Amino acid sequence: MNRQPLRCRVQVILPIEKPYDYLLPYGPDGTQIELEPGQIVMVPVGRRTLPGVVWDGAADENVPLKKLKEIIGVSEVPPLREELRKFVEWVANYTLSPQGSVLKMALSVPQALENLVGQKLYRLVVGGENGEADVGNSRLTSARQKVIDVVTDSGGWTSADLAREAGVSSSVVKGLEKLGLIESYFEAPDFFFPRPELDVKGPELSPDQKVAADDLAIRVQDRTFSTVVLDGVTGSGKTEVYFEAVEAAMKEGRQALVLLPEIALSSQWLDRFKKRFGVAPAEWHSDLTPALRRKTWRAVAAGKAPVVVGARSALMLPYRDLGLIIVDEEHEGSFKQEDGVYYHARDMAVVRAKGCDCPIVLASATPALETMVNVQNGRYERLILPGRHGGAGMPDVELIDLRFDKPERLQSGPGWLSQALRGAIRQTLEAGEQAMLFLNRRGYAPLTLCRTCGHRLQCPHCTAWLVEHRRFRRLQCHHCGFAAALPEKCPSCEAEDSLVPCGPGVERIVEEAKLLFPEANVALMASDTMTTPTATKEMVDRIQNREVNLLVGTQVVAKGYHFPYLTLVGVVDADLGLFGGDLRAAERTFQLLHQVAGRAGRAEHKGRVLLQTSDPKHPVMQTLKEGDRDKFLEIEAETRARGHLPPFGRLAAVIVSGPDEGELDNFCASLARSIPQIDGAQILGPAPAPLALLRGKFRRRFLIMSKKSIAPQGIARSWLGQLKAPSRIKVVVDVDPYSFL
Ligand code: ADP
Ligand code: ZN
Repeated sequence: MNRQPLRCRVQVILPIEKPYDYLLPYGPDGTQIELEPGQIVMVPVGRRTLPGVVWDGAADENVPLKKLKEIIGVSEVPPLREELRKFVEWVANYTLSPQGSVLKMALSVPQALENLVGQKLYRLVVGGENGEADVGNSRLTSARQKVIDVVTDSGGWTSADLAREAGVSSSVVKGLEKLGLIESYFEAPDFFFPRPELDVKGPELSPDQKVAADDLAIRVQDRTFSTVVLDGVTGSGKTEVYFEAVEAAMKEGRQALVLLPEIALSSQWLDRFKKRFGVAPAEWHSDLTPALRRKTWRAVAAGKAPVVVGARSALMLPYRDLGLIIVDEEHEGSFKQEDGVYYHARDMAVVRAKGCDCPIVLASATPALETMVNVQNGRYERLILPGRHGGAGMPDVELIDLRFDKPERLQSGPGWLSQALRGAIRQTLEAGEQAMLFLNRRGYAPLTLCRTCGHRLQCPHCTAWLVEHRRFRRLQCHHCGFAAALPEKCPSCEAEDSLVPCGPGVERIVEEAKLLFPEANVALMASDTMTTPTATKEMVDRIQNREVNLLVGTQVVAKGYHFPYLTLVGVVDADLGLFGGDLRAAERTFQLLHQVAGRAGRAEHKGRVLLQTSDPKHPVMQTLKEGDRDKFLEIEAETRARGHLPPFGRLAAVIVSGPDEGELDNFCASLARSIPQIDGAQILGPAPAPLALLRGKFRRRFLIMSKKSIAPQGIARSWLGQLKAPSRIKVVVDVDPYSFL
């Protein structure tokens, strides 16, 4: 009988919305090979061959056969589980991204999909132990019999091993294979991470810690979804507590995922994990070698990576059986990805946990307002760790009013450290303790200006000033990476020796610190001095060994480090983050400064924090001083509620960009004309983006604002679906935007 050839749907990893139809591949006997949803296949697309995944749902039987291409390869990798396929669909739908782009994040390691040609191994053919009956006595020499006695039907023998064990030459092995009594097969190398040691006792938990740890462990054992906020000040033992939950997941035989904001900065975290569990976890971040990426991806898919710690992209891995997700420092903005697929890893992690029937823990000392509102409305539960472990107190926070305590000029130029701060540093150093100066700005000076004509040095490709980096003797754009030497003359008026740096960056604070405290050992900790995990680790070790006593740093120093002798933190410009029309500016400033402050006095010595500010009455400064996080959240919630801003309303940003300003403005004007009228929602724009020029592209923004009950995705879909953008113009929708540049 002539059957219709069988077809299926395959989602390929291109930016396309939906799966394409393909013919199932033909086996050597000429019949089609049946595939199940989730299997990873290679398919022809145009002139290319790309990986894809057999997708759920039936192919369209009305498409003429001659239009269909055949699947040309099937990967040996285990099929993507239904849980992950559903998750990919959900993320694509929520973020308005093509399903193929989201899938590509899950299949981010093409080499991992290839069938691995492994070692050639031998096994006994079933029934082959009765060799005499099959092949006749004469041909079954005693040498051959020895091999048959040794080889097992489960296999695993290389030819060399087999010959050695049987005490024969390897030609005997070949002969037996020809007779069909043993057979060879190929086995791929086994990718796995060693299993952590369970039941090794962790530290003795305090009663509060124990309550939290037991609660989490029970949730893990229950194998049901719930979201728990683990709320405790820095140093309260959140990490120790969630380690217990990680252990519980492993005891269940399930995998655990720990998402950290910046894995490269967490050598201390990895050391702690190793100390607690005896082995290193699998890591997932952008610095892995290709070989390690492949190994890790395959091990995760095979369920042979019990614990994965990683940056946000670790969320997309093909876990075999995920039993717990931890999002540490859940309030961190770096969980939001802002290129390709715009997604927030914390929020999507909650969705993934739901699909995996497992608990998710959001840990932070300063949970996001969104998170706290979800606690209040009962969607999330909360466990509180009330104090610092071992009774270390919270540091005292004092405000220095820069309007009255103006930093004195130095011989070399303006100074940035007030008398009060200088005095405190001196005291700290004299007491043999460590001090840290915090300024969230890389480089030497954020702006270079001509004294003669007032010209400011600007990036040729972006709406941004060039930042001087004196260490590299260069000017840099922090948006596109453009770099140039500092010119000798002003590019505008040609005056010589007229360019002056304006404002401080951390390099300039280092200069001032060395000048004021020549006897101190000053070190700089910034993302451009800590480019590799090794460099980071070296720096952390130097601080821990007290080779450094005056540390200057950007936000990289705020991230979870524990330096027992650090007792003073001075914030050079506490107001810095408050400017720039970002709805979370106050919240972010509070979180960052709170976290920086938390670096002070984590051991027996009491910590002290000095904030230099020109606006001491600001709620951020006042609540930091009072140490009253909840009051800050209350004030912030009121402000947002009044403006119908998230989490009390919803936002989606639409960023339209292109190389030709006229064409861009024309297109934006036609978008503006077709803005729909919707009850409970409005669309603002177009406005030039604050970064109106970025990497040589002009940019305009629209903002969709809606009531909480209305999804901005639907509005964006129907509005933007009406108009096709010219080919050079790119339209990006950023649902729940975090950046407003
Ligand atoms: P957090 O994650 O809340 O900042 P950590 O888990 O890092 O807190 O704990 C801070 C410090 O206190 C770490 O050095 C940790 O090892 C230590 N610590 C916390 N709880 C205990 C405990 N029960 N016993 C011993 N040391 C603890
Ligand atoms: Zn630039």
